[in-house]
Amino acid sequence: MLRDRNKHSMAELLSFPTIGALLLRGAEYGAFLVQFLRWWESRGARGGGALPVPDPPERDERCSRYLNRCPVCLQAWRIPTVLPVSGYIFCYMCISRHVRQAGECPVTHLPAAEDSLVRLYLQ
Ligand SMILES: [Zn+2]
Repeated sequence: MLRDRNKHSMAELLSFPTIGALLLRGAEYGAFLVQFLRWWESRGARGGGALPVPDPPERDERCSRYLNRCPVCLQAWRIPTVLPVSGYIFCYMCISRHVRQAGECPVTHLPAAEDSLVRLYLQ
């Protein structure tokens, strides 16, 4: 008797209008889920502090030797130019010649290319 009633209620539950209502509700939840995922993604793209800012690189002890002068010619810079791979500043002529010949930073020996040189505008 009880089982029969359950079967009956099951059939009632799966009647056409009920299924339609379920599908409609499913679509609503799906739309909500899409909106939520978009919001979640945009939150991350804005850099909302999800990833910690890395520490700055350690100070290279050699840099005090070359304070305000070119590590190659040991003179005041002529056309100050930075080698981004190491952060050292050279005369443009000194560093472009060295990198073209040696393919590395003269101080740190990190591999470098001439086209990575950046002109610095200090004044
Ligand atoms: Zn120089």
